Amino acid sequence: MGAGRDTLAVVIRTVDFNDNDKMVTLLTRDYGRMSAKMRGAKKPASKLFSAASLFCCGDYTFFEKDGRFGVKGCAIRRTFFGLQSDYDAYTAACFIADAVDKVAQEDDVPSGLFALTVNALFVLDTGTASAGTVLCYFLQRLLYIEGVYPSLSECAVCGSAPPFVRFSASHGGALCPSCGRDHGGIVLDEALLCALRLLAHTAAKDLGSLDINADVQKRLSGALVVYLEHVLQRPLKTARFVTGEKRSG
Ligand SMILES: [Zn+2]
Repeated sequence: MGAGRDTLAVVIRTVDFNDNDKMVTLLTRDYGRMSAKMRGAKKPASKLFSAASLFCCGDYTFFEKDGRFGVKGCAIRRTFFGLQSDYDAYTAACFIADAVDKVAQEDDVPSGLFALTVNALFVLDTGTASAGTVLCYFLQRLLYIEGVYPSLSECAVCGSAPPFVRFSASHGGALCPSCGRDHGGIVLDEALLCALRLLAHTAAKDLGSLDINADVQKRLSGALVVYLEHVLQRPLKTARFVTGEKRSG
């Protein structure tokens, strides 16, 4: 029997397992990403039923056996069940959980990722800001926290100063008029750059006061999702929920 663990955590993935069990993946505050079995959690009468649901946040107690973890108990702080009544908020939350699952390493999660994830879910759950705004905020902060923020102060190809006309995920950021002509990417205008600057200086609790129009939100989140996928070197299954694009595979 190994040592147990106690930590604040949020469920970012669940898979049914056996007749009544669940395997859950959690982003924990203290141990990075953890996978754990929750025995009997599919039974509505189980004391772990709510604790095994996607987005549940609480103080989880884990036991370790043969190098694997199981959940012994959970003092729930917040279930974020309100997300289920708003399609846009719910799909944004699913994308956030998916992105965190792919980005977070076991035992090696940058500080700030747990708070970012829970804060974003909280704003979506309470509806104090639009799902599009929360998504842009989450992506902007995630790239910063992970240390993979795109180059936006100089051209990502030739290093020249602004103005920029394109944003290229594969080249790692903004492109000057000359490089933009040769290297493609999406149109980068002052509205997108301005939105990024605003997001960088706004706390999660103040997102409701941000005024970023729907078209800019859509273009910005679309660009940052493609950039994140490029950094991860893998597609995110839930990306089409938030970009509205149909993708194969
Ligand atoms: Zn250039």
